[in-house]
Amino acid sequence: MSMHSHIERILWSEGQISRRVSELAAKVSADFAGSSPAPIVVGVATGAFLFVADLVRKIDFSIPVDFIRAESYGSRTESNGAPIISFDLKVDINARHVILVEDIVDTGHTLSRVIKHLKSKGASSVSVCTFLDKPSRRKVDVQLVGEGKFYRGFECPDYFVVGYGMDFAEHYRNLPYIGILKPEHYK
Ligand code: 5GP
Ligand code: MG
Ligand code: MG
Repeated sequence: MSMHSHIERILWSEGQISRRVSELAAKVSADFAGSSPAPIVVGVATGAFLFVADLVRKIDFSIPVDFIRAESYGSRTESNGAPIISFDLKVDINARHVILVEDIVDTGHTLSRVIKHLKSKGASSVSVCTFLDKPSRRKVDVQLVGEGKFYRGFECPDYFVVGYGMDFAEHYRNLPYIGILKPEHYK
């Protein structure tokens, strides 16, 4: 059966996502064009893979891209407070401006852990570009580094969403839109 039949409601369509990514890319391009040292995009795997791919293709200067993985051993729909870095960067970020790209910021634990790590590796600034933000669920503030900026695509209501890179138990990442599952599929 098609995965589309598992979706109860679409929150952001493919077209809405694409238009918003273009706007974010325009802002990032304007803010970082000509910045010295040159910025680096760091995506948080796996959830951010589609957003990173779309975003960087809309940035008009050459920019290095790397990925980092952070895992927390919580339930399938909520992270716990102690994520670990389980896969580290290949690119040296010492004295560089990092644009950290995330799918969604929920409690903030994952991003806080990753930012601390990037800071310890000598990043001169860390900006955050998250496609979705659920500020109502924040438990720890996201502390940017240096002159870092915060960009977000959309504010997300308090639902567990899937698609556009985001999973439920590793499924649905390849949905081209963002939606919520029918209750019988959150099992
Ligand atoms: P946090 O550490 O901020 O609580 O959660 C961050 C990570 O949990 C996100 O990067 C994402 O992987 C996952 N997450 C948080 N909320 C959602 C959601 O609504 N849907 C999905 N699929 N993942 C989420
Ligand atoms: Mg993520
Ligand atoms: Mg996940």
